[in-house]
Amino acid sequence: MSEENKRRSKRSKGSKKKSKKKSKILLFLKITFLLFIIIGFIGVGIAAGLVSAALKDVKPIDPSRIPLMLDENSFIYDNKGNVLEKIQRDGLRTIVKYEEVDDDLKNAFISTEDRTFFEHHGFNYKRLVGAVIQGIKSGGRIKGTSTITQQLARNIYLSEIKSERSLTRKIKEAYYAIQLEKSLQKEQIFEAYLNTIYLGSGAYGVQAAAQTYFSKDAKDLDLVESALIAGITQSPRRHSPFITKKKEDVDEDDYVLDDSDEIYTIVFNESCLDRYKDVLFFMRTTNSITEKQYEEAKNVDLKTKLKPGKLKNTNISSFFTDLVKDEVIDALTIELDIAKEEARNMLYTQGLKIYSTLDLDMQTNLENIYADNKNFPQLQSIRKDKQGNILKAVKSNGKTIGYSIVLYKQENIISKDGDLIIPKGDFKYADNGDLIFLKNKRLDFISLKEKGKLVGIKVKVMDSYKFDDKKDMYMYKGNTVKIPPQYKSYDKNNNLIVASEFLKSNPNFFKKDSNGNILISKNNYSISSKGIIQPQSSTVIIDYRTGEIKALIGGRNIKGQKQFNRALSPRQPGSAIKPLSVFTPAIDSKEWTEASIIDDIPHYDANGRRWPRNWYGKSDPKHKGYWGLTTLREALQHSMNVPAVILAERLGISTCIEYLKKMGISSIVESGASTDTNSAAMGLGGMTKGISPLELTSAYGSLANAGIHIKPFSFTKVTDRDGNIILENKPQKNYVVSPQVAYIMTDMLRSGVEEGGTGGRARLKNMHVAGKTGTTSDNYDAWFVGYTPYYVAGVWIGNDLQIDLPNGSRLSAELWKKIMTKMHEGLEEKNFEKPEGIIRVAIDKESGKLPTELSSKDPRGSTVRNYYFIAGTQPTEYDDVHVEAVICAESGKLATEYCPGDVIGNQVFIKRPIPYNPEEHGGYIPTDYQYEVPKEYCDIHTSNFNTNTPIENLPIGTIVLPNGTRIYPDGTKLLIDGTIVYPDGTVKSPLDNTNINKNPETNNPNSNDDVVDSDDDSLIDSND
Ligand SMILES: [Zn+2]
Repeated sequence: MSEENKRRSKRSKGSKKKSKKKSKILLFLKITFLLFIIIGFIGVGIAAGLVSAALKDVKPIDPSRIPLMLDENSFIYDNKGNVLEKIQRDGLRTIVKYEEVDDDLKNAFISTEDRTFFEHHGFNYKRLVGAVIQGIKSGGRIKGTSTITQQLARNIYLSEIKSERSLTRKIKEAYYAIQLEKSLQKEQIFEAYLNTIYLGSGAYGVQAAAQTYFSKDAKDLDLVESALIAGITQSPRRHSPFITKKKEDVDEDDYVLDDSDEIYTIVFNESCLDRYKDVLFFMRTTNSITEKQYEEAKNVDLKTKLKPGKLKNTNISSFFTDLVKDEVIDALTIELDIAKEEARNMLYTQGLKIYSTLDLDMQTNLENIYADNKNFPQLQSIRKDKQGNILKAVKSNGKTIGYSIVLYKQENIISKDGDLIIPKGDFKYADNGDLIFLKNKRLDFISLKEKGKLVGIKVKVMDSYKFDDKKDMYMYKGNTVKIPPQYKSYDKNNNLIVASEFLKSNPNFFKKDSNGNILISKNNYSISSKGIIQPQSSTVIIDYRTGEIKALIGGRNIKGQKQFNRALSPRQPGSAIKPLSVFTPAIDSKEWTEASIIDDIPHYDANGRRWPRNWYGKSDPKHKGYWGLTTLREALQHSMNVPAVILAERLGISTCIEYLKKMGISSIVESGASTDTNSAAMGLGGMTKGISPLELTSAYGSLANAGIHIKPFSFTKVTDRDGNIILENKPQKNYVVSPQVAYIMTDMLRSGVEEGGTGGRARLKNMHVAGKTGTTSDNYDAWFVGYTPYYVAGVWIGNDLQIDLPNGSRLSAELWKKIMTKMHEGLEEKNFEKPEGIIRVAIDKESGKLPTELSSKDPRGSTVRNYYFIAGTQPTEYDDVHVEAVICAESGKLATEYCPGDVIGNQVFIKRPIPYNPEEHGGYIPTDYQYEVPKEYCDIHTSNFNTNTPIENLPIGTIVLPNGTRIYPDGTKLLIDGTIVYPDGTVKSPLDNTNINKNPETNNPNSNDDVVDSDDDSLIDSND
């Protein structure tokens, strides 16, 4: 004992002297009473009155129900039967049968706790009396008087008053012990005992203890392990073989057994040694072990035997098992018609076995990819102010009107000493000395209201960020500033008034630095101690044929249970909604096919505003913002916005919503101030709430699964402790579209990945992929959702706050590829299954019709493609967009009869079914406009009589006079200035030429709405 400890123990001894005397008297009284009871039981009857008073409210017991009364923790298994988690609330327990327990363990308990257990009738009177006398002699408490039966009675019937030392409790305990002995065999009592005793570290019963200390089943315990466990009973806290310590409390002398947890370390508990040796001694005394066993066991190094068990598989995060628990509770509530709290209780206490859908290998692979920060983007190039605080654009009517701070740089708000800095200018003083914190500065004021009335104000520190040395950004949540409620109020401008009385009575609440800034001391405010890395991400992988969730992760670098699960939280889907909301219903209508044509030209919203913009128009919207005639297949492949909006409008918003719902999407807002009943939401994914990664992934699964949506689920069945099935998850199927429609969609989505579309970065080496990117306005969300012939997976990346991401959807497609490459290792390469009734037809992609000879002569190269069709929907008409025209090479326009034969030739052009005039659309020119057949005729060769015609080309018989005038064989004169004098005397001046038209290429209206365009807040405008 150290000097310090000696002094301390002396001091406490001194102060306890008086009370010790008192307790001695009390003890003596108690013992006397107890003796009376005992005497009463053996027939003298003196205490009969007391006994009957104590027993007047005991309930009759049914010992056969003992196993059912015991809380038993439930298990979650993966799809191969590996334990993912032992669900526990207060402790762990798994029931074992008497026969399953080895003799060493039985003997260890019997020798130590109750040697005459198999002989007595609930009591060991001899031992009791002996203990009492010993207790009186030594002045200590009565020890070791309880038989195993009594201990059992106490554990199961008197758990609430277990620690009470009342006479009534002793009488009740005796009564129950007698009842147990009367109705149960000794073996049954012993079995119940082994399953109920508390053995430290949250373990109830020998099975839980065996798992906790040795990671094995009770039946496999050897002598050393059995003795160690039996030794715990006397004082679980003191004799437990190991202790769990907070990391900062671990001493140098501590022998560390397990350091895998982030917060706790398991260390060996030296003080279990003495008791362990006692148990061995008792076992030897009762001849349960030989002398040789005894000597050997005494010398075993216990540290080497211990192997702390894990409550859960620590290699995986808790997002999935949390989801399983929630789903089981919900299912129990419905299936058994019980309250949620009761269902929760069942989960914690009823020994349920939950068979989950998780594939541990897939999940582990996913966790490993998520653990590597290199797989995620970094946020260094985001918009910041001069001080390094992160900004977000403030918009009004789609225009950026300014920026506001969305996240403070932590060193700007917290000083080196840990004080919160409120800079001069963010506060002021009132005349009466009150301190006023200005709104929208470093502090956030949250009004707490009840029934619309202000009942309090919460003052919060703004969120902040820090970069670590690897340049990863972490966000820290700001918490409360401690100012008691009575001192807080608002002024008329909603600034916060802190009453001067508070400041006077708490002079240490803040100090001021030399610059006049307020420094609130660190004891008076808090921010989260652990930062959350940004950007965040989530991924869901589902076997779309069964609906089983195979792997799921709801955040990166996040430990602990019940964490915010981003896989279940709706986010804006952006373009990832398009295949589901517009393309699938379009194909399903049979009025549209892969080859249907939409003209990608300026489109206008209800207010006449040019909307939406396409992602490819950014650099030069006048010439690159629209692509012109487009098939649906191309429109999806390249994630074109105008065609998606046009489809949404033509189909009708209610049709879009209907299909989304069929695919299991539950977060569509249809009423209220802000709804999803518009083409911005349905065509471009700018939704009110958004869609969760789980639901969006599962919705894509319906296209992968031949048009049948299966509701995703996390467990297949749940059994009770006896193995009876109480819940079973049968796939809930919902017909969405025919296999043929689904196949067409798959083909279109495949083109986006495998044929140079926006999802090219998700392409896998040895597996076909159909999928879609999604990026939302301002790059807050980046998605890739796609499927292979095996799985559907959705990846989302975004920040927890609205901070834009660099590089848009590229990030998600790349991460998707990394994940799915791993998931498909060793799987046989195959193609998507093609249903009957699908035909492949060569079409022309400008007209969407059957190709003609002209289709292959398109100036950009042949526009003939092979597209898939549902049989019967293929085109029957021929390409009428490609036209052939005779062009004068000199003017590049339609040839006239006057154009010389050697400069004219046939060329192929396109001719829009609905003519487009750039002048009517602010001068925007779709990229295919240059291939339109010219509308003008040659303005160089406007008649036979042309001064440009070389002399050698003039008709035979023409006379050229010295002044240059030409006299043609018919008598017509052409003067050098171009004036024509016909034989009948009429004169045509060269200025009289009416054949000249404006050339659109050189006469762009000089529109000045470019300024508006650069800030055009089309909802979704970037998709790469
Ligand atoms: Zn010409």
